[in-house]
Amino acid sequence: MLWLAFGPFHTMENQVLVIRIKIPNRGAVDWTVNSGPQLLFRDVLDVIGQVLPEATTTAFEYEDEDGDRITVRSDEEMKAMLSYYYSTVMEQQVNGQLIEPLQIFPRACKPPGERNIHGLKVNTRAGPSQHSSPAVSDALPSNSLKKSSAELKKILANGQMNEQDIRYRDTLGHGNGGTVYKAYHVPSGKTLAVKVILLDITLELQKQIMSELEILYKCDSSYIIGFYGAFFVENRISICTEFMDGGSLDVYRKIPEHVLGRIAVAVVKGLTYLWSLKILHRDVKPSNMLVNTRGQVKLCDFGVSTQLVNSIAKTYVGTNAYMAPERISGEQYGIHSDVWSLGISFMEPLQLLQCIVDEHAKTAKRKAGT
Ligand code: ATP
Ligand code: MG
Repeated sequence: MLWLAFGPFHTMENQVLVIRIKIPNRGAVDWTVNSGPQLLFRDVLDVIGQVLPEATTTAFEYEDEDGDRITVRSDEEMKAMLSYYYSTVMEQQVNGQLIEPLQIFPRACKPPGERNIHGLKVNTRAGPSQHSSPAVSDALPSNSLKKSSAELKKILANGQMNEQDIRYRDTLGHGNGGTVYKAYHVPSGKTLAVKVILLDITLELQKQIMSELEILYKCDSSYIIGFYGAFFVENRISICTEFMDGGSLDVYRKIPEHVLGRIAVAVVKGLTYLWSLKILHRDVKPSNMLVNTRGQVKLCDFGVSTQLVNSIAKTYVGTNAYMAPERISGEQYGIHSDVWSLGISFMEPLQLLQCIVDEHAKTAKRKAGT
């Protein structure tokens, strides 16, 4: 029980914590926190954002006793840092030394671009705040208190969905980007499909993704999956959509031609709807075509957010057999590329094509001598 070491009147809960935020080439800013043990990772990022408004920070580091830097990217890692720090404070107390502030080193990233793939202007929604952060002491200049944690959380929560209201049930499947869960939304009693994607990106990019996803609220087509909202928790985004009880088309072995014809019509209608909104799907394939027992066919996982597409692409492994050649070779992507993928999705036998792709990759590797 670490906190007992502070004695009955100085438990960890009432210890004032001083965090020294080290700014590269510009010294440091001391931040006094009254409720150190309750501090959340997001609160620290928020304050770093106020100290370094020109940079976007998703993580910070602290030094252990050997001077090695340890990265903090989540509440768990925050807890580990605080318990390490409080143990050093105890040692300093025992030895009658002056208590050193907790030094942290923000890790900055580059700010994002202004426009998305559709040429639409990106609105980051970070308006001025009326509130100041209660956790921040006078050590910070008051005019730098731009956003409260509550406001930041609001920016990072698109729609009415939040983690506390969701009960995760079964895993529906894993893809390249993340995992999809069947879940229950307590307030509405709705069954959802929640796609959870791990994204190690800046706070600024998180906000941009949220803003770009807003267009999904405007999608109103019976051929497009319903969107309920999205939110970030630490470095994970959860995207909540309509649950389709028939799953995706990739699990159906042989689909009779007349059924396939009807499915193809629905998919084309879904795609033309997206194209009319200047959205390219970018990932047309059977696992992104969902069906339900009401006989509906709906498209999901379309590339509405450039930042989301880019961030997932960074961790993407393998060759997508449905991808158009111009996409594979990195040329311009257009409606015709979606049409290619559509054709491949309905072509048989697909295994043959996969063999060609795999064989081609193997030959290329052999030629490269790897
Ligand atoms: P990729 O990551 O390349 O898109 P994928 O489509 O196979 O590959 P996910 O998008 O993560 O992977 O989806 C995993 C599985 O979850 C899908 O194959 C599908 O069966 C299921 N799934 C996805 N969304 C829903 C939904 N709204 N309702 C029911 N099942 C879904
Ligand atoms: Mg998918």
